Amino acid sequence: MKVDLHMHTYFSDGTMSPQEIVDKAVNREVKILAITDHNKLDSWEDLQKAAQEVGIVPIRGVEINAAYKNKVVHLLAYGFENLQKLFDLIDLADSEMQRMSDDLIANMEGADPRISVSDFKAYNYDRRKGGWKGLHYLFDRGLSDKLFGGFKYYREYGCDFAEYNFPTVAQLCAAIKAAGGYSVLAHPMSYFKDLSKEELEEELQQLYDMGLQGVECYYPTHSEMMTKTCAAFCKQHEMLITTGSDEHGEFGKEAKTLDQTIGCMNVTRDMIHIEPLLK
Ligand SMILES: [Zn+2]
Ligand SMILES: [Zn+2]
Repeated sequence: MKVDLHMHTYFSDGTMSPQEIVDKAVNREVKILAITDHNKLDSWEDLQKAAQEVGIVPIRGVEINAAYKNKVVHLLAYGFENLQKLFDLIDLADSEMQRMSDDLIANMEGADPRISVSDFKAYNYDRRKGGWKGLHYLFDRGLSDKLFGGFKYYREYGCDFAEYNFPTVAQLCAAIKAAGGYSVLAHPMSYFKDLSKEELEEELQQLYDMGLQGVECYYPTHSEMMTKTCAAFCKQHEMLITTGSDEHGEFGKEAKTLDQTIGCMNVTRDMIHIEPLLK
């Protein structure tokens, strides 16, 4: 039986609906799944309905941008109830992401006649294409030849995650717990890939001390050392051990070198620890 606790619909930057996610999960024999849109909670009701019809166990999820030291990490939250304090932090993360794109266009205005702040404000794109507004705008106005090409402008024009007021890991972990949910660090490889085993353990310890309750130990891009070290740390501290594909549908396929399709991780139930989410 397969488990996949990390995927995106067109409510954030993926290209599929919750129903399409469930259809694909059935094909790929995934029996327990969570949709984890970036800073968006909209897919939960549709997921519940679609999953129940086919006997899949749905787990409520979301992926949140969180400030950690001088960087931004992705925190997954699972199995939480409605709690305004948590929702306010998720909305803050979402609005900071939007502010970053607004600032980028403002910084670029004047440098290129094809774009302007007022034009960007009025601009809309088809959500079924995945991605996000800033990338589509730059692509549609001819400033990048691929959707992903717009990324480089964020760096060039000084729009750095570290400059924005994302909720902190500690704030989010506390709010997720207060909502009866579990906080899990998404794809640690993205931030810690150059660390030694000892350095990695030190980072995990600091995150644990901030209230982190689990780690996405099994992820397509992970090294064996990353997976093993994270799983051993989680076992020792009785934390959740999760797995996810980070499926985005058609968006992202050009940028990804590995298979990140729903159910792509060859992980059996005895390798993970998600029992608290199934109560
Ligand atoms: Zn992520
Ligand atoms: Zn993701």
